Amino acid sequence: MQSFGYAAQSKTSSLAPWSFDRREPNPDDVVVSIDYCGICHSDIHQVRGEWGADIFPMVPGHEIVGKVKAVGSEVTRFKVGDSAAVGVIVESCLRCDNCNAGLEVYCSDGGARDTYNAILRSGEKTYGGYSDTIVTPEHFVHTLSSKLDPAGAAPLLCAGITTYSPLKHWGIGPGKKVGVVGLGGLGHLALKFAHSFGAEVVQFTTSESKVEDAKKLGADDVIISKDAEAMKKQAGSFDFILDCVSASHDMDAYLSMLKLNGTLCLVGIPDGVSVKPFSIIANRRSLAGSAIGGMKETQEMLDYCAEKGITADVELTDYDKLNEAYERVLKGDVKYRFVLDNKTLRNS
Ligand code: NAP
Ligand code: ZN
Repeated sequence: MQSFGYAAQSKTSSLAPWSFDRREPNPDDVVVSIDYCGICHSDIHQVRGEWGADIFPMVPGHEIVGKVKAVGSEVTRFKVGDSAAVGVIVESCLRCDNCNAGLEVYCSDGGARDTYNAILRSGEKTYGGYSDTIVTPEHFVHTLSSKLDPAGAAPLLCAGITTYSPLKHWGIGPGKKVGVVGLGGLGHLALKFAHSFGAEVVQFTTSESKVEDAKKLGADDVIISKDAEAMKKQAGSFDFILDCVSASHDMDAYLSMLKLNGTLCLVGIPDGVSVKPFSIIANRRSLAGSAIGGMKETQEMLDYCAEKGITADVELTDYDKLNEAYERVLKGDVKYRFVLDNKTLRNS
């Protein structure tokens, strides 16, 4: 299927218009005409070759919202014209224990395959949402309530589920003290969710300019992580901390803030993690990680957001400003997620 989008041809090249072939739809596929795609920091990591195993040309994008353009004969939940959304994965075995438990991202038989920068079991390459159209098996496509603003909903497909899932898994709710580290795309949704689940939430940020926003987004307290005294005062007080930071930073400082049996969960992917043994031995603490979430939970999260009126705070951007947007994300200069507007793809 002839497609058009923006691709990086190598890890040192910027993103530029590119025409390419997508795989032809199978009977269980939904073809989505893309309206909006969020820019996740994972796109930047991968385009720049920071995770290794990169497949170029690469069309990034896994926060995808649009309208159904065609459906295969076996598709039951979608018809042409419906709103639809695609997130970070587009394939798993659908038979192993983890897939059967609705945790496709942890597929134990060959692994989940990503929306872009991956090779499917059929041998075909995947291309992501910085493009006009995507072909995805129905199992990996979500319905989107008309109550949700589609541009604000796009980041829910990655940043949303990546923060919702661990908060749910660790039972965050009233009576829990939760920390969110980094107020970026993931962090601002973590803050909204933790607040909406009824927890006491403390936002940690390196950016003084974000303090007032954090309070508006639901933080009970905001701490500038460079303020050593303010950081020390939090020692041993948290049940759970969700670390949403994209670069290496001092993890011992956050571990020391956990109370007995507390957990520091990493969702951000810095280029390395180093912790002192006593940071976890003291207070029997856990250092954990979490990857997006399963398909059932992603749909649950989208429905929860529709019910509660939760969307990302977004800055719409044109495709011709895509490379500039990447630089701005790296500087923390976006409140709080860039979303590509596909009207500007069609015009370019
Ligand atoms: P983002 O919008 O760039 O936000 C990252 C935030 O981290 C920044 O806004 C900044 O917040 C803070 N930060 C940046 N550099 C820092 C440094 N050197 N020291 C301390 N804090 C720093 O990125 P994102 O899209 O939210 O993604 C965050 C990370 O999550 C990325 O590594 C991404 O790959 C990863 N991710 C993981 C999953 C998963 O399944 N686990 C899914 C999606 C994304 P302040 O200005 O508030 O300090
Ligand atoms: Zn992402």
